Amino acid sequence: MRRRRERGVILDVDADDFGMGELASLAQSVRDSGILVASDELDANGETHTRRDRLNADRAGDVPEAAPVARIAHVILQRALQEGASDIHIRPGAGGTAVYYRIYGILHDIVALPVYVHEPLVRYLQTLAGISVGAGRQRHRAVLHINYRDAEHAVRLSTVRTTAGEYAAMRILYPPSVTGGLDALGMSTDIAAALDLTRDERGGLILVAGPAGSGRTTTLYALLLDLPLADQSVITIEDPVELTLPGVAQAPVDPQEGRDFPTALKQALELDADAIMCSDVPDAATARVLLEASLAAPLVYSAVHADDAVHAMRRLLDLGVSRFMLAEGLGAVLVQRLMRVPCAECAQEREVTPAEREWLRDAGIAEPPPTVSTSQGCEACRKTGVTGRTAAHEVLTIDAELRRLLGSDAAISEVEATAAERLIPLRHDLARKVLAGRVDIVEAMCGTAFLPRYK
Ligand SMILES: [Zn+2]
Repeated sequence: MRRRRERGVILDVDADDFGMGELASLAQSVRDSGILVASDELDANGETHTRRDRLNADRAGDVPEAAPVARIAHVILQRALQEGASDIHIRPGAGGTAVYYRIYGILHDIVALPVYVHEPLVRYLQTLAGISVGAGRQRHRAVLHINYRDAEHAVRLSTVRTTAGEYAAMRILYPPSVTGGLDALGMSTDIAAALDLTRDERGGLILVAGPAGSGRTTTLYALLLDLPLADQSVITIEDPVELTLPGVAQAPVDPQEGRDFPTALKQALELDADAIMCSDVPDAATARVLLEASLAAPLVYSAVHADDAVHAMRRLLDLGVSRFMLAEGLGAVLVQRLMRVPCAECAQEREVTPAEREWLRDAGIAEPPPTVSTSQGCEACRKTGVTGRTAAHEVLTIDAELRRLLGSDAAISEVEATAAERLIPLRHDLARKVLAGRVDIVEAMCGTAFLPRYK
């Protein structure tokens, strides 16, 4: 552990601009000040933080020296935002606390902090997020709101008790003003057109699917902000509300007050909204009300955890929605994956292997080129070969034939085979992006290796 402490900061840090190098002395202050409970520190500074308080990470330098643990937290958060990290992990251990950032899908070991910093640091974050540290400790998930460069960022904090202490994981949600909305998601024009058609002509439920960490919430938000909000009433049901969306009414779910997803959805329906977004489908009751809502409201958006479009449909059937209801209510399924963007600075052409050629053909590229580009890493990309992330998609729109089959008593395998024929598959979108140098072919092949085929 000594070695790790001496190694300290792993990423390059601009010392003038930023205080990552100060973490060691701040950690020393945490020990010297003897303040081990973060909430006490907040009281000592005369500050009370409620759940909606904003932590101004732009001004880490303004945090009083008397609260070194707050300063450590601010530095960790500020640096993560500056780096474009998607996640921060604070992992306790007998020899100290390890802080990791996930940047473009790759986990980086950022800094090691002395063991006595861990508890106050996690408590401070919990306090900011409105998790009561004392009695009961029932809640272990909440959202922190952070102002950074004049934009509100949401950080979803989850903690899990381990034998070494509380493990804290934070997922950063960048606002659409930073991510650039729907255009910047990297959505191909035919996929965007299929969604537009559903939105403008058919309506119904637009389901966003993808594995964990695929950016479903960001996409749901971008889809809502793409609506003509000036003359439409848009309501969201969320658990919890993450980012504030201008022009959108956002209702948090609160089961303790009797407002669970189905109840909140029914209330939203009574308001005669033009579009309703339900951030999750946690159970059968929500799934049923969601489909009912999609018959009543012009547009309904929601998200499920599923790897492909057929699986997303099956997920709703498994939750007890009838095939008839699904056929009537479902408009389209959008599946999303986040992929690393290869660095253009160090991209080099190399020959396509026979297996890659076969994969490209299989993905709908009739005549694969003899070479593809690969990025080995350079100074510009910190030797990772990666300069960002983009999304790849699959879209399934429910046309009349598919609706008829789904609502009939045809075998589900027949429905799934027809759905597979209708969709623009993830493989195809990935292959196009490989040829455009926007996705690495090895990552694309690995990411689709275990996807099922329905025909
Ligand atoms: Zn590079």
